[in-house]
Amino acid sequence: MKIKIHRGSHQIGGSITEIKTESARIIIDIGSELPSADTKKVANFEIEGVTAGVPDCDGVFITHYHGDHVGEFEKVLPEVPIYMGEVAKKIYLTLQRKIKRGKPDIVEMFKTFEAGKPIIIKDIKITPYMIDHSAFDAYMLLIEAEGKRILHTGDFRMHGARGRKMPAVFEKYAKNIDVLIIEGTMLSRSGEKVMTEHELGRKAKELIQDNKSVFVFCSSTNIDSIAQFYSATIQSKKPFIVIDDYQQEILKIVTNNSRSSLYDFSKQKIYAYSTRNKKLHEYMKDRGFCMLIRAGKISEKVVKEFPNSLLIYSMWEGYLNKNHTAFNESISNIVGTAKEVGSKYQYLHTSGHATVDDIKKVCEITNAKMIIPIHTEAPEVFTKMSIAGEIVLLKDGEGVTV
Ligand SMILES: [Zn+2]
Ligand SMILES: [Zn+2]
Repeated sequence: MKIKIHRGSHQIGGSITEIKTESARIIIDIGSELPSADTKKVANFEIEGVTAGVPDCDGVFITHYHGDHVGEFEKVLPEVPIYMGEVAKKIYLTLQRKIKRGKPDIVEMFKTFEAGKPIIIKDIKITPYMIDHSAFDAYMLLIEAEGKRILHTGDFRMHGARGRKMPAVFEKYAKNIDVLIIEGTMLSRSGEKVMTEHELGRKAKELIQDNKSVFVFCSSTNIDSIAQFYSATIQSKKPFIVIDDYQQEILKIVTNNSRSSLYDFSKQKIYAYSTRNKKLHEYMKDRGFCMLIRAGKISEKVVKEFPNSLLIYSMWEGYLNKNHTAFNESISNIVGTAKEVGSKYQYLHTSGHATVDDIKKVCEITNAKMIIPIHTEAPEVFTKMSIAGEIVLLKDGEGVTV
């Protein structure tokens, strides 16, 4: 069997991995590059049989809905099926309907998979297992073929809502792995202090109790963190407000498709700037609130309507750094506007990615014989982590036969 890393061997995001046996060929993730990557280099990638030429691929499996894992889906030849988690698909479809250049008609055609239920394609068995990540309904994939066991972790961490359960999940389903394809985002960011989602929730509660009006600037699909802000708001007896029907829909999907009370957002209220409810607006002025906002002109206007509030920034701070290639003007403008109207700024965010210690833990629990790092700017760090398995550092486009 051949494993090939088309993209993502030396960068964070843009992941594309191929697994090919005697009779089957699958792709895992087909992501866009993140703005921080050197996009000129590989902007127009093509994979013969997958995005170009005669169709020769049995399926593209998407681990989760982040753009750096699914963003290039429209390049996949229409004859090649794309698979995704069921709830992840619903969320991604909502997102694709919202954005300008979205392609919801293609996403509607995605096939879905379920945790623990194997999909058999010719001589390959693919079993998805739910994993802890900042995207909801995210998976790692266990691939069994030709007598080998390969585990592709997707993006993962062990400090989110399902983090504590993760070692037991690896222990139960992913032991004795021949090849571990594992993300290493944090290897180049190991100086960052990582708090758990639970700790984030505790701090959020303090901030929401101590400040009358609170804006939370957060990714619309970072469900674990949103759940913490929601719970802190409800406990503080304040209304939890979402900015528009798009955000409302995302949280509805999660509420309707989860059995956990952590993901029950049924008390959310919608602000909807252009058609807003005057009564709600007055109530918010009077009694305070916690409101989810994101990049865009509408959020900027709303932030102006409620001066002297608190803005909690719950995203990666690199977007605010003018000297970073990932600098985002729209995000930076909102933070700037909030400061202009006298609002305070507080950074409160936790990473979606595993710490160095947790990466090592997965290498150990899975007892992986061979380890291929992806989704990292520093794959060579793996060789210095005293991991028992053989570390294989591939370049983009390189493969290994196992
Ligand atoms: Zn990623
Ligand atoms: Zn991700």
